[in-house]
Amino acid sequence: MNAASTSASASASTAPATAADLPVVVVGAGPIGLAAAAHLRDRGLRPLVLEAGDRAGAAVREWAHVRLFSTWDEVVDPVSEKLLAETGWEKPDGSAYPTGADWAADYLQPLADALGDAVRLGARVTGVSRAGRDRVVDSGREEQPFTVHVRHRDGREERLLARAVIDASGTWSVPGPAGGDGLPAPGESTATGRISYRIPDLGSPSVRARYAGKEIAVVGSGSSAFTALASLAALAASEDGAGTRITWVLRRDLTNATYGGGGSDQLPARGALGLAAKAAVDDGYAAAVTGFRTAAVERDGDRLVLRAEDGRGLGPVDEVIALTGFRPDLGFLGELRLGLDERLQAPVALAPLIDPNQHSCGTVYPHGAAELSHPEEGLYLVGMKAYGRAPSFLALTGYEQVRSVVAAIAGDRDAADRVELVLPETGVCGGSGLFDTP
Ligand SMILES: Cc1cc2nc3c(=O)[nH]c(=O)nc-3n(C[C@H](O)[C@H](O)[C@H](O)COP(=O)(O)OP(=O)(O)OC[C@H]3O[C@@H](n4cnc5c(N)ncnc54)[C@H](O)[C@@H]3O)c2cc1C
Repeated sequence: MNAASTSASASASTAPATAADLPVVVVGAGPIGLAAAAHLRDRGLRPLVLEAGDRAGAAVREWAHVRLFSTWDEVVDPVSEKLLAETGWEKPDGSAYPTGADWAADYLQPLADALGDAVRLGARVTGVSRAGRDRVVDSGREEQPFTVHVRHRDGREERLLARAVIDASGTWSVPGPAGGDGLPAPGESTATGRISYRIPDLGSPSVRARYAGKEIAVVGSGSSAFTALASLAALAASEDGAGTRITWVLRRDLTNATYGGGGSDQLPARGALGLAAKAAVDDGYAAAVTGFRTAAVERDGDRLVLRAEDGRGLGPVDEVIALTGFRPDLGFLGELRLGLDERLQAPVALAPLIDPNQHSCGTVYPHGAAELSHPEEGLYLVGMKAYGRAPSFLALTGYEQVRSVVAAIAGDRDAADRVELVLPETGVCGGSGLFDTP
């Protein structure tokens, strides 16, 4: 049998005495998955965190250069803090704003270390089902544990059993395209050398050289687009960035609400992101093109032209940065019975609370196990992934989600039903939320 062939692990082939002996599998060692594990441990349950990356916080580390708009006080989970305190961990200054790199190094890594062998790295979850039951089979379904299919980085495959599954795998790995209809526009997939889907790290000499003095189109209108516009404007204003020209491509109109809550945002740094994007436009560094729905990406020699549905052409530009939000990867949950909203791909009871079509204020509401439940009992999607395609997810929301979900798994219905969090408001109405919309 070669390394990549199926080898059922001892844990899957030997049925344990009761479901209670099985671990609760948590998919993803990001901020919310690790918090879920800390809550499970706090309640005397056994967590097993499976992380595809080589380190905890693998997704956060990919945007290491971005400064959060939340302070340390707003991105540390209280129960995780308790666990960390036992290891002698010292919390950074609560009023300071970490970067992604700080969040990963000074909090996520120590938290993963404190959880010890409950966190397995290089372990990608490729499928989750009910043991011996595919999606169609009713008979005996609820008595069956979950079976979790894992592919390790050395190619080895493993099958684990779980009493419950908390999917905290985020949405980072599936960024939205530039195409206005939500699919890559014709020509987009073959132009990847000149299109990026990430906020550029202009502190890196090679990335800076890629964008300095170039014509750049930034597509999208959420926090990531604001961050990119602000840093590209700073590049354009700098000596080595002379000649940098930025076009900001929006599907919608540009109004004051586009920029978020500004000074009225209860998270001042989040408000400041929108104001920085506004300054980039007002100071002439970025030219906004509105009502532009990208229908094609055309070549003009080495450069790109964005073609809109209405025939308008934009460019030629040297680079396109598409920051149009993220999508959940639902592929590995295909054998489970999910209850997802058809627009947002968020749990049906949660979707109305976070739908940017209805909640133009971009304000989110705390919620827990009741809103996060699926027809498949014992399965919860939490964190960024719980929001599906909805914007405005905050780590604080995720910490409250896992507090409630873990209480439900532990059978503490009272704690599961309680809401223990008041979230900051954006202070803006009329826009469509703050995070990464096309
Ligand atoms: C640029 C940026 C800035 C942000 N700033 C803020 C902020 O200031 N304040 C705030 O409150 N929120 C902020 N957020 C939103 C949110 O809090 C973060 O995205 C946070 O990282 C979400 O945590 P998560 O645990 O849900 O997902 P992630 O951090 O994405 O973690 C998911 C983990 O799951 C792993 N994974 C994925 N698929 C699999 C699989 N199949 N098997 C095993 N592992 C898997 C990934 O490798 C990753 O480590 C920001 C988001 C972005 C993108």
